[in-house]
Amino acid sequence: MAEISLRNLGKTYAGGIQAVADVNLAVADGEFVVLVGPSGCGKSTLLRMVAGLEEISAGEIAIGGRVVNRLEPAARDIAMVFQNYALYPHMTVRENMAYGLKNRGFPRDEIARRVEAAAHLLELQPYLDRKPRALSGGQRQRVAMGRAIVRQPAAFLFDEPLSNLDAKLRVTMRGEIRKLQRRLGTTSLYVTHDQLEAMTLADRLVVLKGGRIEQVGSPLDVYHRP
Ligand code: ADP
Ligand code: ADP
Repeated sequence: MAEISLRNLGKTYAGGIQAVADVNLAVADGEFVVLVGPSGCGKSTLLRMVAGLEEISAGEIAIGGRVVNRLEPAARDIAMVFQNYALYPHMTVRENMAYGLKNRGFPRDEIARRVEAAAHLLELQPYLDRKPRALSGGQRQRVAMGRAIVRQPAAFLFDEPLSNLDAKLRVTMRGEIRKLQRRLGTTSLYVTHDQLEAMTLADRLVVLKGGRIEQVGSPLDVYHRP
């Protein structure tokens, strides 16, 4: 029971800009859905509403069958991975990964166990005691993934997580994210404007245009239909 369900979701910013309009979408348990569309089509607004970082103007969001419209981000059982990593510069990799769990009052041995497991999965063990500035871009992005994984959330939200990486690393990390998601089976909603990224990652693609869903389908349906 970890699906994300959006019903008649809408967002109107002050000044009357309708960024998202009447979006209906169900991301199934374990499904990887990628949101694509041109700049300004409402991708980021939609994702931020699911995360609880942006108030909604209309409709309903449910995560794992529970309506979360009025819940704080921390109470939504989701973990978000950002394009700028959002790592704490003064903390080590281990501390960065542990931070969210520590805040939530998890016992120390459980935190240590989860951080070890995530570091193993992401091949970050050699870097656990380093600070973010002593890591490469790809390693930083792995730490950001690690912070999400240790939470064991009902769903992952990805906001263009690879767009700060160079082209070669983007391709590598794309593969790693897909492998990881298959292994963990965590419901994922992923925003990108990169068509190749979308095709590689998506079980299902959602094309947004002017804040509305224009098309939904498999990558083949969306990109190879005449
Ligand atoms: P995308 O992520 O697809 O580039 P956004 O969700 O960022 O699209 O933006 C959708 C629309 O909402 C755009 O017209 C944008 O200018 C507008 N918008 C985004 N954030 C705000 C805001 N805080 N205040 C007013 N308008 C905004
Ligand atoms: P986590 O999301 O890892 O469980 P929290 O929920 O406690 O951590 O994070 C609280 C807020 O701080 C989140 O909105 C998160 O995006 C933000 N945050 C995380 N890292 C940074 C950073 N380096 N600088 C500013 N804000 C950050």
